[in-house]
Amino acid sequence: PRPVAIDQILFSQGFGTRRHCAALIRHGLVSVADRVIEDPDEAFLTEGLIFEVEGKSWPYHETALVLLHKPAGYECSRKPTHHPSVLSLLPAPLRERDLQPVGRLDEDTTGLLLLTDDGPLQHKLTSPKYHVPKVYEAVCKAPVDDEQLQRLMAGVLLEERDPRLAAEPVKAALARRLADGRLELTLTEGRYHQAKRMVAAVGNRVMALHRRSIGQLTLPQDLPAGGWCWLDEAGRQQAM
Ligand code: URA
Repeated sequence: PRPVAIDQILFSQGFGTRRHCAALIRHGLVSVADRVIEDPDEAFLTEGLIFEVEGKSWPYHETALVLLHKPAGYECSRKPTHHPSVLSLLPAPLRERDLQPVGRLDEDTTGLLLLTDDGPLQHKLTSPKYHVPKVYEAVCKAPVDDEQLQRLMAGVLLEERDPRLAAEPVKAALARRLADGRLELTLTEGRYHQAKRMVAAVGNRVMALHRRSIGQLTLPQDLPAGGWCWLDEAGRQQAM
């Protein structure tokens, strides 16, 4: 690997045009290992590099993969229609990168959401081939009874526009009642409004929905709604 000029590095990490990045550097706003960098052409090895911009520390990431604790009231679209985009919860340099949500949560659904600008990874994580189990917790309108749990696991038919989809029952890999009465639903597909439609199909109704995990990856306990963190290679593996 070759060292890369610091203005180019900042540019690649979403800090604006190369010109703007060079200006940040000339104004003394960028440092590496507590040393202010004055020359935009000074080059660094990117692997493991941590730099500071205006006093904030940034780890270099060739591609970005972040975990967001999605709050209610945000849309998983880059061009939202009624509510702000989940991207508005991320700091400016990340918003500048071409991050896309990995699958979508409804506007009113909370919990674990991944976003990445890594195209092949996006494809892998959303491919129906992989059937990564996703665990949801639902507050339902009526108490969830055993018959509903059985039916969710046996499979229910959902109305679909595509007749091929409509003919196949959708099953929860697991449906169980949690101690507090909430429903825990493990799904391996990602159809539109799937959890809500499955619960409706067995005669109940989802009032609130929260995604707790994707594969082995679980929403960190200490991450408040609206908070985000980088995912490292271990996290990436857990989500597959
Ligand atoms: N199922 C739903 O109904 N909504 C979501 O946001 C996710 C799964």
